[in-house]
Amino acid sequence: MADACAAPINPDMRWLEQLPTGVILIVGEHLRYANAEALRLIRAATPQDVLGRSVQDFVHPLDLARVLARIRRAERGEAGNPPTEFRVYACDGSLRVLAMTSTPLRLGNTWAALATFMDLSARAEMDARLRETDDNFQRMMNTMQDVFYRTDADGITRYVCPAVKNVLGYAAADIIGLPAAMFYPDPAEREPLLAAIRRDGFVHDFPGRMRCRDGRIIDIAISTQVLRDEQGNYAGVEGIWRDISERKRMERELERLATRDDLTGILNRRAILEQIEDALARLRRGGGPFALLLFDLDHFKRINDGWGHGAGDGVLRQFVALVQTLLRDVDRFGRLGGEEFVLLLERVDASAARHLAERIRAAVQSTPFIVDRLHAVELTVSLGLADLRVGDRRASDPLERADRALYRVKAEGRNRVGA
Ligand code: GH3
Ligand code: MG
Ligand code: MG
Repeated sequence: MADACAAPINPDMRWLEQLPTGVILIVGEHLRYANAEALRLIRAATPQDVLGRSVQDFVHPLDLARVLARIRRAERGEAGNPPTEFRVYACDGSLRVLAMTSTPLRLGNTWAALATFMDLSARAEMDARLRETDDNFQRMMNTMQDVFYRTDADGITRYVCPAVKNVLGYAAADIIGLPAAMFYPDPAEREPLLAAIRRDGFVHDFPGRMRCRDGRIIDIAISTQVLRDEQGNYAGVEGIWRDISERKRMERELERLATRDDLTGILNRRAILEQIEDALARLRRGGGPFALLLFDLDHFKRINDGWGHGAGDGVLRQFVALVQTLLRDVDRFGRLGGEEFVLLLERVDASAARHLAERIRAAVQSTPFIVDRLHAVELTVSLGLADLRVGDRRASDPLERADRALYRVKAEGRNRVGA
């Protein structure tokens, strides 16, 4: 008798089917085997209800990152996972809480995760509490205006709340499973965000851009934190992003209003003076050369007196439009005030500046300026030229030299260039 008890027994595969605990086999996130107890716990009528399906179809969104990290560990052949609890949606839609442990299993030349689990949700009052938490989570997600999302370690979107539809135009289901970087105008734009999260563990109001379904590009602010698995490994990110396009548009508009002249749309006095200061700083660092032209329209009072202030304004706008046709992108054109303008020229020496000044002078002289529907007037302009010098301490230094040159040509009879 003693010998019979000690004799080795060969395990039988059918024993798994009688085991009062769920056993499943997962390959590449997909369920490949489930014993009878596993099917019962997940409320599957037939094995076909679960076999071949992804664990993502069952696991609660808040637990998914953790579960997937554990599966990946197993599939890398790393040591078994300690027991954990998580929530799944059973085939009948009910929310169950499972306690699960898993271990890597070699299947031919791939690794699978062999897992065993028990149902803890039998505890009814806990069930109810979970449902409430889940309902709260869903309600919160459904009413949120900002976009809550989660990605895994590979940057794949694993959850995104319904608000994404209002912002990007895609339904949440269209986005889940796709790389988050796909929704950036350039996938590389996501790298600085990931670098900051990896360095600090979180970011607040990090700037970014996303491309909407209709092709529009929106500005967003991202607040996100890093997710880690039980071993402390990077498992993805989770957080919220917000459409801040309207705020950005207003910031750009304020910036435009602060730097633009209302009448002509070119740089205002403060902005062109800043450009000159900036050019002086670059000149001291070896940049340049730079030159500036100071303009004063000749006998402009006569236009106002003869045709009215409104017609004078129209002439100022036409003058600006004419000069702009002769400029390069790098040239900076500003209105100092009244009918006085300044043009900052980059990589232009004194002789090239004089040549351009002469072209502008001649163009103004030969262009008729409309003052009302039937009449055009002639206009001339006087220009003072100055180069920027390393010794100049502020914008007013070269401007004063240009002003002295301008004063001289006004005295000499106007409609000319002085240096
Ligand atoms: P000068 O050849 O000596 O420059 O003669 P000027 O008549 O142009 O005299 P000045 O430059 O001293 O005066 C500029 C005039 O430009 C004064 C003012 O009536 C007019 N002016 C200044 N700002 C504006 C403006 O925004 N719109 C209009 N329509 N006129 C302006
Ligand atoms: Mg003037
Ligand atoms: Mg004038």
